Amino acid sequence: MLTKSDFEYIYQLLDDVTPLFGDCGELCSRRCCSDWDDQDDVGMYLLPGEEVMFSTNEDWLVIEKHSTIDYEFPPSWEGEYYFVKCIKPCPRDKRPFECRTFPLIPYYNAADDTFDLIMNPDGIIICPLVQHSDLNDLNPEFIKNLQEAWSILLEDPLIADDIKLKSAQWDQDPPWQKFFTE
Ligand code: SF4
Ligand code: SF4
Repeated sequence: MLTKSDFEYIYQLLDDVTPLFGDCGELCSRRCCSDWDDQDDVGMYLLPGEEVMFSTNEDWLVIEKHSTIDYEFPPSWEGEYYFVKCIKPCPRDKRPFECRTFPLIPYYNAADDTFDLIMNPDGIIICPLVQHSDLNDLNPEFIKNLQEAWSILLEDPLIADDIKLKSAQWDQDPPWQKFFTE
């Protein structure tokens, strides 16, 4: 399990860099934040161990614990994991890692046992950057810092297993198929 200082380092890598040099929120009215406003069940999971970065006093965040008995997680995950929902704009330096990595995420290539950063297929409905799908459009410093962050995170086998499971699910049921049929 990664330590609090690991997460502090990973967070600061992504504190100030953004996917584009400008504000990509102007392209889409900040859909990756605003799309959640009116949906009770929409939120994100913290990474295993990431809960050390939060107290229970955040007035912008609702924190739930989800059991591996009741929810689908990788088979190696046991116990409870943290599901969070922001209910108002967050202090930027406190935002969860999920918001720092979006719209990129690692993809696991089973054939050569490697991880590569890709546009997050699950963002295809909401994110113009994912829809355009060209990493060359992104700020190289964002990509470089994110690669470093993920290289640390993927040392945790639980996190690596999560990415392997997601990658297998994208291979089996690509979200962009739903995008083109909606
Ligand atoms: S949805 Fe995509 S383009 Fe819009 S703010 Fe989020 S990352 Fe930027
Ligand atoms: S935590 Fe912050 S950055 Fe993440 S979705 Fe909520 S408002 Fe947006």
